[in-house]
Amino acid sequence: MSKVAKSKETAKKFQDAPFSCYSINVDTNIYETKKKENSLFKFSLRTRGDQLKNSGFNNEVSVGVIGLGIMGSSFAFNLLSRGYNVHVYNRTDEKAKPLLKKGAIFYSIPRELALVTDIIMTSLTDQNAIDTVAFGEDGFLNGANKGCLWIDLSTIDPSASIRHSEVAKQSGLERLDTPVVGSKDLALKGDLVVLVGGSREVFQKYEKFLKDVGKTVIYLGADGNGHKMKLAINLYLGLFAESFSEALAFSQKLGFEAKTFVETVNKTPHRNYISENKRPKIVQGDFKPAFSLNNLFKDLELIKEQIIKPGLYCQ
Ligand code: NAP
Repeated sequence: MSKVAKSKETAKKFQDAPFSCYSINVDTNIYETKKKENSLFKFSLRTRGDQLKNSGFNNEVSVGVIGLGIMGSSFAFNLLSRGYNVHVYNRTDEKAKPLLKKGAIFYSIPRELALVTDIIMTSLTDQNAIDTVAFGEDGFLNGANKGCLWIDLSTIDPSASIRHSEVAKQSGLERLDTPVVGSKDLALKGDLVVLVGGSREVFQKYEKFLKDVGKTVIYLGADGNGHKMKLAINLYLGLFAESFSEALAFSQKLGFEAKTFVETVNKTPHRNYISENKRPKIVQGDFKPAFSLNNLFKDLELIKEQIIKPGLYCQ
């Protein structure tokens, strides 16, 4: 049984839908909620779980993407293009619309998304955002099936990552920290580098899936180690980005155009990933972020906190 509504607001108001999800009919541009029988629903989940155990990964796996910012949306697009069933949640539901048109299903409550997914991916600003969507009555941990995998692709405090892992395991879930290196364009192609922390056994079970998220997957050991390495990489990236930006601003003070500076640098031995990859956008004057300064600042604050932690740094 299904109901249709001319707007997502009406779709959300259907009282009899057991799950607050809706998809969009691409032809009619009409939002649609589908009523599902609980028992049938649970049976199909068990079937998927068995497929997972018996035959490794295939595209029958249902993936939930929580957080549809620059990266989360790109992960979801990539997985849809690879044939996965993709279920999405975002605090601001408007951001889900382009994904609904590609076949994703939106849930307005993280717990309800978790009821239908085998793998839950979080891609959120920081540990506070994750706490908000993971815990509490409507948090996804409250709906996730036993044995479901939670991977966190955000860049967060490694201590929070270890805490999340402990809580997930207590709830019967498997969890890996899987922060990524690379930005929107690579995420859309599934060409990121994925830094993995957590149980080796769980990593090996899901390695094939992780390679669909990012072609290069690096296992780094215990829970939190993915997030620790991510901070080290972002310190390196942040310093590069800062030195490049300082020199660019300085060259402009000296009277050069940004285009002249970046093209000159790229003819010297001092060219690097930043100067080469940002060149086309700098030349066009396109400063729309692929990775926001706010998020880089957040990471530098996290790095500072690690450095001043007792015992980590000789003061
Ligand atoms: P973004 O575009 O700023 O998206 C942030 C996401 O977090 C949005 O979905 C936002 O929801 C959600 N969010 C923030 N606070 C929340 C809260 N209190 N409750 C619920 N949801 C909340 O960031 P992004 O670039 O996609 O990055 C996501 C994560 O990946 C960050 O940790 C970032 O450091 C990391 N990362 C980014 C890149 C990159 O190149 N962009 C690369 C590697 C890693 P709303 O839409 O409702 O605001």
